[in-house]
Amino acid sequence: MIRWVVHLTITLVLSFITAAPYTQAQSLESGLQTAIESLSADRMLADIRTLSGPSFHGRQTGTNDDLKSAQWVAQEFLSAGLRLPRIRNSSLIIPFPTGKDGVTSGAMATLVPTATLAPHPTVGIGTASGLITKQAGLDYLPIFDSPSADIQGRIVFVGYGIVDSDRGIDDYAGVEVNNCVVLFLRGKPEHYPRHVSHADKVRLAKERGAVGYLTATGPILHPYEIRRGVTGDPSAFYGQLPPDMAIPGAWISTALAQDILTDSKREVPDRLRALQEQLNQSPTSQVVITDQFASLQWKTTEKEGLLVNVIGMIPGTGTDTVIIGAHRDHFGRPGGILFPGADDNASGTAVIMEVARTLAKINRRPSRTILFVSFSGEERDLLGSRLYVSRPIAPLNATKAMINIDHAGVGNGRLTVGVTGLDKDVLLEAGKTAGVDDKLDLYGFFPGGDHVPFKEASVPTVTVVSGGVHPHFHQPTDTIETIDPNILQTVARYVLTVAWQQAYQP
Ligand SMILES: [Zn+2]
Repeated sequence: MIRWVVHLTITLVLSFITAAPYTQAQSLESGLQTAIESLSADRMLADIRTLSGPSFHGRQTGTNDDLKSAQWVAQEFLSAGLRLPRIRNSSLIIPFPTGKDGVTSGAMATLVPTATLAPHPTVGIGTASGLITKQAGLDYLPIFDSPSADIQGRIVFVGYGIVDSDRGIDDYAGVEVNNCVVLFLRGKPEHYPRHVSHADKVRLAKERGAVGYLTATGPILHPYEIRRGVTGDPSAFYGQLPPDMAIPGAWISTALAQDILTDSKREVPDRLRALQEQLNQSPTSQVVITDQFASLQWKTTEKEGLLVNVIGMIPGTGTDTVIIGAHRDHFGRPGGILFPGADDNASGTAVIMEVARTLAKINRRPSRTILFVSFSGEERDLLGSRLYVSRPIAPLNATKAMINIDHAGVGNGRLTVGVTGLDKDVLLEAGKTAGVDDKLDLYGFFPGGDHVPFKEASVPTVTVVSGGVHPHFHQPTDTIETIDPNILQTVARYVLTVAWQQAYQP
């Protein structure tokens, strides 16, 4: 009898052990499917409406508007059932829940210089005596952190604005630009192998005595610009120059740049295009002293403001971490022009909040801790993600993946996924599980975005962007009306599944 019981017990235990992994995998799988089915495009749309709406005025980093949006996201994380981890922020006073020990819940903060461009900037273009006032937002946008401007000067076209004697390029060859306003094209010709930044070009102009600059996208687009859907419209932009290196500048439309270059005799119909063709073919300078003048007038004030990354957490059973991030900041309302930033990146923020709600409801702890990070400062050269990487709350060498979502609401319905440090097959597999594998386009590293500092710190990264053209990119027209709920749903399904794969699977 005893022997029989022992035998039966052993058999039962053995069969339980053999069956356990199967049962566990099965419940894991059905848990994921339940989670996927519970994702709500309506909730994401409502969140985008709030984030891009009148409460937060476009969420400019370092302003009270962005701080309020940070508090709102923290509240949503709490309501979702996330924990707000305790974070020490030296002696900064942050309006977030703070203990007696000065440790704050859910806010990682630092002070950053914050430029405010006063309403009604003015740019005039024309002859010295006949300047015509141009329309902000349509013909031009001031570079938002450029210094106050009260200047006028002759416009000199200096190609792409590159000087590199090692490579035989001097876009300023044979011309004086002292007290002038230089006009240079965005980007660089394909034959030029080095990286050249906007800040490099402004520095070169200032060193040569220019009092201001205009910049424009050339009429001939590079293949990567076509892929990204770049248009000739002026775009919201921060120059990110140290104050002693900055001069006032504006991004003007391609059409206005073409007008400026068209000589009064109109001998060449599209002179700018002809000049860009030459520049793209050879390093020879194509400098033009135009007969046009520019006047730039506006007031910029600068003061320190709080940059806040909001962090919510689902604690795991092990020591490793997975980060799901999206930037929350946008351009605010520089010069009185509102940039709602619905697609960029209220949409990604809404996706991480919805994925957080869904995962927090699952009655099971992940193997790895999941950190949901709402970054600020992305539009300012990734200040927020750089802050995280400089002060990580979990060791970076135990951070198994950083999943970044940026622009999740507009496009052609496909997902563009950039992958570093992870096997692409695994990410394709996640697409199959999520039922979106027919919509995936997998690539390697994407330049630009909050995943970059993580990649530089050797953390594996997955960047999810909705594919196709984003016609309202960095425009005042990036509003809730342009958001497609089906795209949100596709992105959320995929991000949830990748998060699941990275955090829950053993
Ligand atoms: Zn952006």
